[in-house]
Amino acid sequence: MATPPAPAAGDLVVHGGTLVLPDRLVPGGSVVCRGGRIESVGPLAARPAGVTAIDARGGLIAPGFVDLHVHGGGGADFMDATPEAVRRVLACHARHGTTTLFPTTTTGAPAEIAAMLAACRAVRDSWTPAAGARIAGVHVYGPYFAADKVGCHPSSGRRDPLPREYRGWFRDDLVRIATCAAELPGAVAFYRTAARRGCLVTCGHSNATWGEMAAAFRAGVRHVDHFWCAMSSVTSLRARCGTPMEAGMEQFVLGTPEMGTEVIADGAHLGPELLAFALSMLGPRRLCLVTDSSRALDMPPGRYRFGHEARGSWFESDGSVGRAAGSLASSVVGMDHCVRTMHSATRADLPTVIRLASLTPAERAGIAAGVGSLEPGKQADILLLSRRLAVRRTIIAGVPLPG
Ligand SMILES: [Zn+2]
Ligand SMILES: [Zn+2]
Repeated sequence: MATPPAPAAGDLVVHGGTLVLPDRLVPGGSVVCRGGRIESVGPLAARPAGVTAIDARGGLIAPGFVDLHVHGGGGADFMDATPEAVRRVLACHARHGTTTLFPTTTTGAPAEIAAMLAACRAVRDSWTPAAGARIAGVHVYGPYFAADKVGCHPSSGRRDPLPREYRGWFRDDLVRIATCAAELPGAVAFYRTAARRGCLVTCGHSNATWGEMAAAFRAGVRHVDHFWCAMSSVTSLRARCGTPMEAGMEQFVLGTPEMGTEVIADGAHLGPELLAFALSMLGPRRLCLVTDSSRALDMPPGRYRFGHEARGSWFESDGSVGRAAGSLASSVVGMDHCVRTMHSATRADLPTVIRLASLTPAERAGIAAGVGSLEPGKQADILLLSRRLAVRRTIIAGVPLPG
């Protein structure tokens, strides 16, 4: 008797759990995947033949996470700019449930940014699901920061937008998210170039006024990086502009329905009342969770470099957050931790909390046709989570990673 052929890679059924869909939970649900894409979602009358079966053991079946803002993990930073370092970060974040991410630059010399882009392009072009999270595009974040809001990033690598530099970044489709501080000379031209390329255009590490944000908005800005961190406030604008006191980025985002933002929900950057306030004011379609994590994720407490492994600035990880010169220096947690923190801070329902880490960032970055939710036709990026939101298994494009 002939043995039946082994299921093809990417052909599987995930069953025996509660589906987390964007608008509801479906107990006793299954996801059938063929060729790495989702074929059907919902209760199944009979298990399909010829596919690998994965039992969710009564836990949650959720979409893979999408991270718009991530610097490193597993000891590597994308600014190390080698394919090996890039792959180490992708594998590290996949263990925490992230299946799609945007490698994020920090400040650095032009050659360092170019080397980071080249390493990410090479890994993206040779990527297979077993490598870990997929690269949806690079987030050019540093170097165009305001001098008074550089934070933990190496300040020697900060500069104003240079068209002859950034035109090279936008010459193909690699860069998908583009940050610049709105008050810098040349910011509007930078935003217009990024918007024409279809990027999510964002303002961060900035002490911008309401008026500068309004000009940025007209040039295409629709997002602000890590809300409340390294951004303008009424108080910081008083120091910059005097009186009468002025509105800044916080008020502009809250008051402009087209604007979105993100929170670092690691429990160390923002208190639970700020996380809950952000969700209640912005709603689940304008707010994303990001890790903003550094190379110290999944590493022991100690001293690490932010940015390049030999030239980056030093910070100290205590195992729960990074610190430098008395202030915070990026997170050291994965997206699973952020989802748990957001859930306990807001008490929002599971479809809402999972959406903040999956469909909403996919929508804001313009990739929701392919990823971000459990829907037929999308990539089979699936998480098996415990009821307490711990990652039991990550599946990328229908390929289960080692549990
Ligand atoms: Zn930052
Ligand atoms: Zn960052």
